[in-house]
Amino acid sequence: MLHDIDWHARASAVALPNRPFIDGRYVDSLSGETFACVYPGDGRLLTDVASCNERDVDRAVQSARAAFESGVWSRMNPADRRRILLRFAELILQNREELALLETLNVGKPIANAYNGDVVSAANCIAWYAEAIDKVYGEVAATAHDMTTLVLREPLGVVAAVVPWNYPMSMAAWKLGPALATGNSVILKPAEQSPFTALKFGELAIEAGMPAGVLNVVPGLGHIAGKALGLHMDVDCIGFTGSTEVGKYFMQYSGSSNIKRIGLELGGKSPQIVLADCDDLDAAAAGIAAGIFANTGQVCNAGSRLIVDEAVRDSLLDRIAAQALNFAPGDPLDTSTRMGSMVSQEQMERVLGYIDAGQRDGAKALIGGGRVRNETGGFYVAPTIFDGVRNDMTIAREEIFGPVLSVISVRGLDEAMTVANDTVYGLAGAVWTGSLRNAHRAAKAMRAGVVWVNCFDRGSLAVPFGGFKQSGFGRDKSLHAMDKYTDLKAVWFAH
Ligand code: NAD
Repeated sequence: MLHDIDWHARASAVALPNRPFIDGRYVDSLSGETFACVYPGDGRLLTDVASCNERDVDRAVQSARAAFESGVWSRMNPADRRRILLRFAELILQNREELALLETLNVGKPIANAYNGDVVSAANCIAWYAEAIDKVYGEVAATAHDMTTLVLREPLGVVAAVVPWNYPMSMAAWKLGPALATGNSVILKPAEQSPFTALKFGELAIEAGMPAGVLNVVPGLGHIAGKALGLHMDVDCIGFTGSTEVGKYFMQYSGSSNIKRIGLELGGKSPQIVLADCDDLDAAAAGIAAGIFANTGQVCNAGSRLIVDEAVRDSLLDRIAAQALNFAPGDPLDTSTRMGSMVSQEQMERVLGYIDAGQRDGAKALIGGGRVRNETGGFYVAPTIFDGVRNDMTIAREEIFGPVLSVISVRGLDEAMTVANDTVYGLAGAVWTGSLRNAHRAAKAMRAGVVWVNCFDRGSLAVPFGGFKQSGFGRDKSLHAMDKYTDLKAVWFAH
């Protein structure tokens, strides 16, 4: 159990996977290059990890292609594929301690979150798609009486999943679940900050009975391994989660190679709207604080812009500041910690740069505003609230990906919606109101793929997740995600 484990002792003993997993086993990279993995909780070097280059990527693609064409997975009886994926999910849970620890060491998130959240949600996701395998039917189209016309879904072939570091296991599982369930072979490219759990997944998939080559894992740098996957002529599809900037590269890679399918889950600048008729400011404050400080604000749908009616502004801000005390940064390996470190020194410096920009532009830091726990050598930023923000300031326009809330005051629903939608992003947003009428008006007016009313960051595998505008296209989660990894085939039988 979480609290019975001496996580510091476990951390010094755990084996750190650091070689690519290709064709069913760990192999030496062909590149011979490595990159450093640092524990952001104290800044120490953990290990060097193989940095895959074009040749390594090509080897993984060949393995995935051979597995796909052989039919060992793509044409396996769906009930058998289901059993193996369920076993894979079970093994993820059985290895919960190790996976949680590897995740915390890579990204500095609290061990309690990794153990109770990330591992469990990844396992649930794989199991959900495993269960769906033999419950999704094809279609018979209404064509002429002397024809029978089937609409079939077929796997695309070789799918590359290129994922970020903020929720490494969950983001991988959101791709692996639907892509593997539909019979594709997959190459997983974790972010360079967080390769450990992805590599471990490769090992567990084999243990679960998945044939070699169906899941390959290539650790590597984005502009080398990620780009090689994007440009590869034999990769049929990219499932990408990451920044909007890199999402744009993937569209170019696709266009300049083989028009591979792409699904893009990108960044956000999600509004939290609190109207004057909000009838539970305590609940709103708790949702807003968790919505920007959980996972150190390194969340694609983080509620980073608070758009609040002047009538309730002061009482709401007091409550949010009180809630922020729950998120004082602490030792990620301490089970009581609710906020850990930033993922890396680079990310910390990026966030501190945005804090400087906020101050330069005339916003006022009500709380936080700097680095903390310097003595640990780790990369910690205090929860920060900026008041007096205008929506044209840099801190209101750009994705900070840190624990920084920008407060923008407005009057009335119409102004709130105009400000909320004045962004290039459209991933998610929330409205807090006691009026049913305003709730419906705001939900309809919000240009975003996910809208929360009187709640924030609720999710379920049954519900699609993804964005409008420059937050991307295609959806993760739910049966809709299976569309991304399949093509429709129409088959006409003349009688
Ligand atoms: P990132 O875009 O820098 O990297 C994501 C992945 O792309 C990594 O695996 C990286 O190695 C790879 N990559 C980087 N440069 C590349 C290049 N030139 N060519 C090919 N691949 C490249 O993002 P990040 O910093 O890892 O994660 C943070 C971003 O992810 C934020 O913008 C966040 O909003 C977004 N995100 C979105 C969602 C969502 O569901 N919409 C979820 C989580 C994170």
